[in-house]
Amino acid sequence: MKNDKKGKRLVSRRAALKGIGAIGALGFLGSKTSGGKEEIPTTADLTSHSSETRKKIFQKVFETVFIDTHEHLPDESYRLSESFYSYGGRSDDWTIIFSHYLCSDMCSAGMSKADWNSFFSPKIDPLKKWSLLEPIWPFIKNTGYGQAVCIAMKELYGVDELSAKTVGKVQAEYEKIRRPGFYKRILCDLAKIESCQVNSGDGFRQSNMPRLLMQDIGIVGMLAGPELSLSKPTGVKVTSLSDWHKVIDWWFNKYGKYAVAVKSQNAYSRNIDYEKVPAEKVEAIFKKRLKGQSLTVKEQKALEDHLFWYAVNKATEHHLPVKLHTGYYAIWGELKPRMPLSRLVQNPGAATDLCRMSPETRFVFMHICYPYYEEMISIAKHYTNAYIDMCWAWIINPIAAKEFLKKYLVTAPANKILTFGGDYSPVEPVLGHAAIARRGIALALSELVEEKWLSLDDALELIAPIMHGNARNIFNLGEKEKLLSGVKW
Ligand SMILES: [Zn+2]
Repeated sequence: MKNDKKGKRLVSRRAALKGIGAIGALGFLGSKTSGGKEEIPTTADLTSHSSETRKKIFQKVFETVFIDTHEHLPDESYRLSESFYSYGGRSDDWTIIFSHYLCSDMCSAGMSKADWNSFFSPKIDPLKKWSLLEPIWPFIKNTGYGQAVCIAMKELYGVDELSAKTVGKVQAEYEKIRRPGFYKRILCDLAKIESCQVNSGDGFRQSNMPRLLMQDIGIVGMLAGPELSLSKPTGVKVTSLSDWHKVIDWWFNKYGKYAVAVKSQNAYSRNIDYEKVPAEKVEAIFKKRLKGQSLTVKEQKALEDHLFWYAVNKATEHHLPVKLHTGYYAIWGELKPRMPLSRLVQNPGAATDLCRMSPETRFVFMHICYPYYEEMISIAKHYTNAYIDMCWAWIINPIAAKEFLKKYLVTAPANKILTFGGDYSPVEPVLGHAAIARRGIALALSELVEEKWLSLDDALELIAPIMHGNARNIFNLGEKEKLLSGVKW
């Protein structure tokens, strides 16, 4: 990448268009080709003015780097190791790019559990797996999850359409690409991502790619109470709540300066309605947990509430924003749909309580709380300490994400929106997700100009901040980069 006159980070147009490849920017402009010659669109809505607008906006969006604020990527060396595949019985073949999140749509489309398990099993010949997918493929290939995977297959493997004929090529190319250096190639060279922010589970992971794969401190395990994987590295023997506080302190004292944020996906099991419960009220509950006794729902909530605020206060002392999952649920391995909308609908209301209870904490509400995104715009508009992260949203519902961004930009301050996080464990579909996000951002801005809500200059000026500038400010990335550059774990 290079710096332009204003110091904004741009990649060269040639490099950007090379990165976009077959799904290139021109494809998104509504242009069509005839005999290899490009034609200007003639549809009524694409007047010469709006077409010029689109060209300028699409070009700039596709040239501008992303800071990717949410991923679950393992380190490249781990992804390439045998232990990655033996853990959980993952298969090292083309189906891994379906394993997160398209596997959810496979389940909801009605694939049987037996077929689903065989599809992802390392014991089945990769080429025979197509016949398991074929009956439902037409129903899932057009969803955001499906499109992200299709774009990745097209860009990485040169395959336009997955079929019995092409599955061999997909497998061969998968093997060719999955080699040392493929993270940098996919994330930096092709998807134009400057750095990612990775949630690696509980605690903090010492990445061996520390500047590319920056890390959050995962706090869900801290909220649950004594957890050996968290206490063991600290050397603290946990016999009381105050010992557990020491464990939490250790993680923040050791890794707070290297982490970009803290992250909790506790909303997968409860609402984010955390009350400030004093330590003395949960001392006895903690002891029960230590003895392995089961807690009532009320006791568990009180303990989690107390520990949430303990961890959030630590994060705030260490100037770390607090990223919270809100909204939609993925379907995981057990294949049991379990999303209670009656709970999710309460997330925005609880989010406003958090903002009020701790005005000095910066809360990053993730995934636009889909499908309750209109409410999240009102929260960012009202609360200084509320930030909204569009991570995952572009592939849950690309059109809702575009509408969200359009509405957000004419409603709430533009310095509090983060527009991209791939939210993937396999690296390959991040490329597809980034392309869908760039398309959505460019469409949202183009429509705002065409509808005369924004001037073209104002729309162009928003691109760098919403794609990387806000993330640099909110997560203090200048300082983190310096610290991580010379880090020796
Ligand atoms: Zn996630």
